[in-house]
Amino acid sequence: MSKIRVRFAPSPTGYLHLGSLRTALYDYVYARKMGGTFVLRIEDTDQTRLVEDSVDNLITSLATLGIDYDEGPHKDGGFGPYFQSQRLPLYMKHALELIEKGHAYHCFCSKETLDQMREEQVGTHNNMKYDGRCSRLSKDEVTARLLNGEPHVIRMKVPKHQSFVFDDIIRGRVDIESDLIDDQVIIKSDGFPTYHLAAVVDDHYMEITDVIRGEEWLSSTPKHIFLHESLGWTPPHWVHLPLLLGTDRSKMSKRQGDVAVESYLSKGYLKEAIINFVALLGWHPAGDKEIFSLEEMISEFDFAHVNKAGAIFDVTKLDWMNGQYIRSLPLEYIADCSRTYFLEAGFDISDHGKYLKVVDKSRNYVSILSLITDYAAKFYIFPKIKETDKDFLTSASSQKVLSYFCDRLRIKYNWTKDELAELVSKGIEELEIKGKQYYQPLNLALWGETSGPDIPTALDILGTEETIKRFQAIMK
Ligand code: GLU
Repeated sequence: MSKIRVRFAPSPTGYLHLGSLRTALYDYVYARKMGGTFVLRIEDTDQTRLVEDSVDNLITSLATLGIDYDEGPHKDGGFGPYFQSQRLPLYMKHALELIEKGHAYHCFCSKETLDQMREEQVGTHNNMKYDGRCSRLSKDEVTARLLNGEPHVIRMKVPKHQSFVFDDIIRGRVDIESDLIDDQVIIKSDGFPTYHLAAVVDDHYMEITDVIRGEEWLSSTPKHIFLHESLGWTPPHWVHLPLLLGTDRSKMSKRQGDVAVESYLSKGYLKEAIINFVALLGWHPAGDKEIFSLEEMISEFDFAHVNKAGAIFDVTKLDWMNGQYIRSLPLEYIADCSRTYFLEAGFDISDHGKYLKVVDKSRNYVSILSLITDYAAKFYIFPKIKETDKDFLTSASSQKVLSYFCDRLRIKYNWTKDELAELVSKGIEELEIKGKQYYQPLNLALWGETSGPDIPTALDILGTEETIKRFQAIMK
């Protein structure tokens, strides 16, 4: 069996979105599992749709997520160049070869002619199909019009009345009537190839064994098989991944800005959660396990467990998963990922020990990391006492509690959590104050609220100095 070679072939027309990430992830995981090669190829032949920086953005997003390609831009594996715009002569060569073999033809139809054709076909087909008129031009006429410099494209000449039958690794046998297939343009009037020709030529030259891509390309596959076979090549295996559906089961548009990987990362979704979530958009190994590390995906992944049916993209599941990772990944890592949010909030996190304790406590209350500062704020912002609480706080009983703590806490600087817990119980005994009368002054003085983290934990995180400061601000 030949060594597996798969490719992720994005068009640089925007940012990496979660749908494309799934394709890249399955490519990566499958290549790793099979000891194969994962190629990144940039399909930049549609010059009108190029978006500046999108290649860099794509490469950076993949690197951030830890999905490393083996061959591609800046990583030559002997099959480059990996930008289609740098391979133009190759496509033209094979387009001309197709013409010579009778599988393609020059088409001189103007935009007006095509518009008229489209109008005439309204109501007859779902999609407009070219009627093939230029395929019937004589050789001499074609030569004369070419010499005359007439604008033209090259179209593939799809045979009539036959079936294209192929096996898809996920969908099984697929059978598509050739009469439904358009004589697709393969070289545009600017001399650039369309996606169809370029992808087929590159898949052949890059020795791609398995084409993994979204289901939206399934209907193009007969065109690709036709091109491979017309050029005397063996087509690769086909793997069409299920569509992504919104929670209302409508098809999700890949251009929905909100699904850009980058925007999820900056909102505070962890790469581990994004990858795990995306992996399960269609793939469900046996059992009900939902949390998979990348390594586990590599060892457990197979296409037999990828569904045909559309995969529901449910952000609430991503939130849940993100929360799971926020709570279970090593504290130092979560603290690292949270740093920008604390700095943006203007909190002084120079005391690393305190910062770690704050993150450790606060991570229990969030599912999106950018919101961690909502909970953590209480440890960095001095509380505001409400007018309505002032009488209660200045009462003799409240003052007794606060001064008891100030006096005891001053005795030493470093208190362990156990010692603080002991101090809290002792206070109840020694002051003979309990319940609300005991805890309320502490909570109000610490947070300006009647509730908060349990007192030993709170004091442990805030530290002696800050705690005394907060208590003293209330004391008469
Ligand atoms: N360039 C195509 C895209 O942007 C790739 C399709 C394929 O993988 O064949 O999705």
